[in-house]
Amino acid sequence: MTPRLFMDVLLTAGAVVDLDADRAHYLRDVLRLQADAGVMLFNGRDGEWRSTVQAVAKRSMTLQVAAQTRRPEAEPDLWLCFAPIKRARLDFIAEKATELGVCRLQPVITQHTIVERVNVDRLRANAVEAAEQTERLTVPEIGTPVALAALVAGWPSDRHLLLADETGGGRPVADVLADLDDQARAAPWAVLTGPEGGFTRTELDLVRRLAHVHAVGLGPRILRADTAALSALSVWQAIVGDWRRATPRRWPDYATTTMQA
Ligand code: SAH
Repeated sequence: MTPRLFMDVLLTAGAVVDLDADRAHYLRDVLRLQADAGVMLFNGRDGEWRSTVQAVAKRSMTLQVAAQTRRPEAEPDLWLCFAPIKRARLDFIAEKATELGVCRLQPVITQHTIVERVNVDRLRANAVEAAEQTERLTVPEIGTPVALAALVAGWPSDRHLLLADETGGGRPVADVLADLDDQARAAPWAVLTGPEGGFTRTELDLVRRLAHVHAVGLGPRILRADTAALSALSVWQAIVGDWRRATPRRWPDYATTTMQA
């Protein structure tokens, strides 16, 4: 198994990359890599590159970049806007939404949001680890938390929004997505889900004033906020997004391994 790491550095043939202490420790002491071992690198811009271990020292490790193995490839323009929930479930949302291909994770503070502080660095660390694991070429952007009213006020006019409305105010999600015209399918998108306490009537009314909002129901059961977010993303990917493309063929020797927290 070849390890795969996100490194925000220039990736070009011949470049030398110094690993931070954590990553050096992981490759040296956990995976026991030695000189000339292969490591896959991606930086969110330049695709994926194969590198080899150049030097191993007590506290550091350097890699030398060899050749590009995959060209840059964007994820669908799909945001997840979500009311933050407690920590373990937030970690779960960041990891799973990254696997599901979102390009931005945007925490949104609503009236019934209980969590006051969102650890943006922790969200990002979860997203990086998931991106490494899932063989993405990019890491989702992490937005700083915004109030729902501000999110709506600054909403990009061309971006469609799938509003997960647990109050019965929307049509079934698959019907809504199946009925979209080509222009809507090609547009940028976002999913918005509420906190465990749900949206207020005022909030739902505010969001529904956006130009391209689609209020949807996710079935007859009330889902936990994390389940709702990941379900809506999955259905969108299956009907509108890149799940309609064939699964890429991976040969056994492509298998990569990633650093677990
Ligand atoms: N406290 C609320 C439930 C909130 S569930 C109540 O008891 O009524 C958290 C969020 O998940 C909701 O705000 C909504 O965005 C989403 N959600 C949960 N179940 C849903 C469903 N069946 N349809 C659409 N959205 C749902």
